[in-house]
Amino acid sequence: MVITKRLQLMGAYFFRWIGFPVEPQLIEIGKPTTNSPVLLTCNFSLTVHRVLKNLKNLDCYLLVAPSNGINVWCGACGDDFNTNSVLSILKTTNIGDKVTHRTLILPQLSAPGINPKEIKLKTGWNVKFGPVYAKDIPSYIENNFKKTEAEREVRFPLSHRIEMGNLYFFMLFLLITLIYWIGAIFMPFLNLILYIHSTLILVITIHGSMIILPSINIQKGYIKIILYGSIILTLIAIYNLILKPNIFYFTWDIILASLILLIMGEDFHGLTPIYKSELGERSWKKGKKTMKFLFSEYKLSAYGDIRIKEDDCIGCKFCIEVCPRFVFKFDTNEKKAKLLYPNKCINCHACINQCLGKCLSIH
Ligand code: SF4
Ligand code: SF4
Repeated sequence: MVITKRLQLMGAYFFRWIGFPVEPQLIEIGKPTTNSPVLLTCNFSLTVHRVLKNLKNLDCYLLVAPSNGINVWCGACGDDFNTNSVLSILKTTNIGDKVTHRTLILPQLSAPGINPKEIKLKTGWNVKFGPVYAKDIPSYIENNFKKTEAEREVRFPLSHRIEMGNLYFFMLFLLITLIYWIGAIFMPFLNLILYIHSTLILVITIHGSMIILPSINIQKGYIKIILYGSIILTLIAIYNLILKPNIFYFTWDIILASLILLIMGEDFHGLTPIYKSELGERSWKKGKKTMKFLFSEYKLSAYGDIRIKEDDCIGCKFCIEVCPRFVFKFDTNEKKAKLLYPNKCINCHACINQCLGKCLSIH
């Protein structure tokens, strides 16, 4: 049982692009009472596992809502995790019979896909957007359901960069392993040394770029990849031609590294949660409604600059509450939101979806 669960989590970790669902359900954590908090998350197995780990010392209810096994942010942006997901899990679990309050805590990153007004109207439940990361839920509850600034921000720390690197590394490693071990039967030049070379090239190009490049302050992701690629290709040339002269390995390493860097360069910023997708923006400007990258297809929403019609702002502060990039500040004199760091906008559409004044747009 434990082994099956571990295998399932490993599958979810490495193959998340195909979706890894668990049953939508109500989970009671600790000894919840009629006053206990009701939290909600998506039904991606890895997310459920991580949320449960972080809630283990609380007494609360967790609703696992259908999202086709996709994680919260991707699900909310791609319409897999939406208002209907919330409505359906509220109905099928009858959670309303277990508690006397009507406050539902959703992850902040679900805001692009959730309409709290519709949920309130149809069910009477009040939606509150909790912290970005599950690890902050206990302190958020302790702090009387108020988020600190840090709990509102999406970050890309080293551990997340390595995790993202592992994801893309594993996809290509699997492909290369298959090619080698099947191809080696017919093509003897596919030897172990080439296999080791290829694995190292994958690590250096994928993990190297994921770990180093997000911190470099250059506006375009493909320029970062070109700069990084030039250094990597030079190092490969030095190693293969000067230190261990072999033209065959040299040619192979250069072709493989260039190919991976080309693929990553097509949308390097889109692989991170802190920059907007450049491929998405290019596709949107060409009039496309979806974009394909590696093994996935994404639905597109408007790309461009975030705009605010300040005259129409009613000061509800929802933009500040849900923006994971601190794009807004609140002017306490005018009682209106203002753009603070518009360049940090990643076009997630959370603020536009939640704005009560309908005064935000992207174009
Ligand atoms: S300002 Fe940009 S990053 Fe912030 S919520 Fe709106 S669309 Fe998302
Ligand atoms: S969400 Fe809209 S109406 Fe509310 S403060 Fe922000 S800009 Fe103003």
